[in-house]
Amino acid sequence: MIIYGSKAVYISSKQSTTSICPSCGTQGSLKLFVFRRHAHIFWIPMFPIGKKGMSQCQHCKNVLHTKEMPVSVRKEYDVLKNKAKGPIWQFTGLGMLIVMIIWAFISTRNF
Ligand SMILES: [Zn+2]
Repeated sequence: MIIYGSKAVYISSKQSTTSICPSCGTQGSLKLFVFRRHAHIFWIPMFPIGKKGMSQCQHCKNVLHTKEMPVSVRKEYDVLKNKAKGPIWQFTGLGMLIVMIIWAFISTRNF
């Protein structure tokens, strides 16, 4: 049995100063969060499969997913998302695979 799935890891956040909460109307209350998902097999991260995000109002605690964000919030989120870099360890499985392929290549050659 192979245990696999995906997991989202927090990578960045930013307090928005210009956006207005669509739920309670407070300006500058939204905090933006960026996560990066990675596929894992037996809990070993293999490779990243994309970023996702959300915002939370610090005033009324209303959570918005990227699809529900007003255009202005979405723009600010996209800027943050494009700047945010995920951790290198999310490539662990891919790195191991490359090492194994190189090792297999070297060990099958007759010197
Ligand atoms: Zn609010």
